[in-house]
Amino acid sequence: MPLDDRILLFCLVTVSAAMALSISIVLQPQEHNGLRKWASALTLESVAWLLFAMHGLTAPTVSVILANFLLSSAQAIKLAAIYEYRGLKFPRWQCVLPVLGNLLIFSLLLHRNLHEQLVAGSFIYSIQMLLILIALAQDTASRVGRAWNLLFSSTLLILTIYLLRAFNIPSSQQLFASLPISMAPHSILLIVILSAIGLCITESMGFVLMIKQRSDREILTLAMTDPLTGIFNRRAFMANADKECSIAQRNGLPLALLMIDVDHFKTINDRYGHPTGDAVLAEIARILTSRLRKEDTIGRYGGEEFCILLPGTDENGALAISENLRQAISAMPLTQGKSPVFATVSIGLTVQPPTDTFFSPDFAKLLAAADAALYQAKRDGRNRVVLINSLRTAITQPEH
Ligand code: GH3
Ligand code: MG
Ligand code: MG
Repeated sequence: MPLDDRILLFCLVTVSAAMALSISIVLQPQEHNGLRKWASALTLESVAWLLFAMHGLTAPTVSVILANFLLSSAQAIKLAAIYEYRGLKFPRWQCVLPVLGNLLIFSLLLHRNLHEQLVAGSFIYSIQMLLILIALAQDTASRVGRAWNLLFSSTLLILTIYLLRAFNIPSSQQLFASLPISMAPHSILLIVILSAIGLCITESMGFVLMIKQRSDREILTLAMTDPLTGIFNRRAFMANADKECSIAQRNGLPLALLMIDVDHFKTINDRYGHPTGDAVLAEIARILTSRLRKEDTIGRYGGEEFCILLPGTDENGALAISENLRQAISAMPLTQGKSPVFATVSIGLTVQPPTDTFFSPDFAKLLAAADAALYQAKRDGRNRVVLINSLRTAITQPEH
């Protein structure tokens, strides 16, 4: 049964329209992630393919100029969709110029042969594909995801097809003719249309999945982050702590845990108001975070309590760091306002020693020890660091 290119073009019309319809159905009205633009581009593409399929049945102004204008506009809208996905401004000239160039070229070449039209048009489409690839490559946040790979490689393949058409149509025909399986030039066109069908699906799936992967990442971050301070919330900290605890045990390294509580915080709230209290908490989190290493973990454990894990840190090291944090917080005003607010913190510290059998790799035990140390620090007068472990208790006092 002969495969007719017109039938394949109708398949392409159906696939583009089906993809556009599917995306439009699942679109949320408030979404500004480029998906609406992508669906519009697919709709335009589907109309363009329909006009190409009617070549010979309609006037050339429709099946050549209008069809190419629509196809080029669809690529421009896809580029705009990627910019919208990245939260950037619409690249007006990058979108408009290739479409105008396309319109001009096909108007000028309307009565020339098909080969010249294909070569000239393919150059314009190649530029548009290149602009899309550049916009994708600049999106460093999504570049790690597999959906990005799918979209990027699909676009790269489309660019390759256009470039082959732009540079190589006569020689590729010779190339195919020289192959053992001889292929008619017409077969090349069929392969191109079949590839376009496949790539229309993989490209759009890539874009949709890229949006999904990003929203999954955002939801995960939200679920792990304390909104006031931007650090791990209790759940995320605990999940991380269990892991750190086992890693430290397995590698024979110490693990220090600091439990930090703001002193007389209720008084700060009562005196300056709850919003100022919030600002103080955010500033304390900022000071703590700025003084930690990359491998340390910080989390907001409760209202005005923070926890810090210092992997590979022994008692002396952890005492020095805790003392440094305590002094840093007590030394500076914790709000930007006219009346500076000062606060102090008490720190309960415990260290899981590398070879101490008292601490099995159980974070609950470590937490209980740090909590006891914090309780002791409060009882001893606040604004101090207390270390508790299985062997001894050490206390550092503030200097007066
Ligand atoms: P201590 O020195 O014994 O720790 O006394 P404290 O006043 O700090 O401790 P207490 O447990 O009596 O009070 C903690 C206060 O922290 C009470 C609560 O309203 C406040 N708080 C908890 N979460 C937040 C928050 O997100 N923002 C603000 N502004 N206050 C909070
Ligand atoms: Mg407290
Ligand atoms: Mg407190």
